[in-house]
Amino acid sequence: MRFQDKVAIVTGASRGIGRAIALELGRQGASVVVNYRKNQQAAEEVVQAIQETGGKATLFQADVGDFAQAEGLVKFAVEHFGDLHILVNNAGITRDGLIMTMKETDWDDVIRTNLKSTFNCSRAAVRHMMRRRYGRIINITSVAGQMGNAGQTNYSASKAGQIGFTKALAREVAARNVTVNAVAAGYIETDIWASVPEDARQAVLGMIPLKRKGQPEEIAKAVAYLASDDAAYVTGHVLTVDGGMAMF
Ligand code: NDP
Repeated sequence: MRFQDKVAIVTGASRGIGRAIALELGRQGASVVVNYRKNQQAAEEVVQAIQETGGKATLFQADVGDFAQAEGLVKFAVEHFGDLHILVNNAGITRDGLIMTMKETDWDDVIRTNLKSTFNCSRAAVRHMMRRRYGRIINITSVAGQMGNAGQTNYSASKAGQIGFTKALAREVAARNVTVNAVAAGYIETDIWASVPEDARQAVLGMIPLKRKGQPEEIAKAVAYLASDDAAYVTGHVLTVDGGMAMF
């Protein structure tokens, strides 16, 4: 129960990796705000699952790509649970396509949802965290932001942007005991792969030394480490959890 007195926000926690992170933090005692955009029923199930294990959780609908809605999410967490210690910027989408055919909206939607949301939520959260001289911000990025991926110029740019953001913010807020880190995920089995053709999935699988996809729970464990006191001296770090796909 290492997060017993901690309040956490997990963006995009209705499904996939965000869901696993919310469940893991809740299991370890955190009071969790489960954010979602559209899928209320799935988000309610996450809240219920946390409550069934004795944890505290509540849901909050917000499009975190929208500045005011992201501010509303942070305000809600502080008002509802009385504090905020952990922010996990997880919400993300893909709109894949080669650059010659990529629509302007495909670029804008991905940058807004994946990168601007990270700014929006972090900006609102650091105000509170700096005042109370404690905070953990964890951004869920991707190996695509480190290696690049053909057909994902928008997504790779958003994920690389999150890495730069993580390092810059880590330097800005370190003196107030707020750490900012990222987890760079590899091929993790979630809905986000639904639109990727089977041959492309097999090609990615072939690049993984551990020869398998990862599970959302394996990302959640890494997030829990970075959110914990065990990682008190870790900031500005990108922890790659990808079965060895990207080695630098
Ligand atoms: P999923 O598609 O399974 O889930 C996406 C989640 O984000 C959903 O809960 C969705 O909510 C939410 N969401 C989307 N847009 C918004 C928004 N504007 N505001 C609030 N919530 C939103 O994706 P994954 O779990 O796979 O991905 C989670 C993160 O992990 C993303 O940032 C992704 O880039 C990253 N990642 C994933 C990898 C993978 O292999 N799966 C690899 C590397 C990184 P709703 O249900 O309401 O639509």
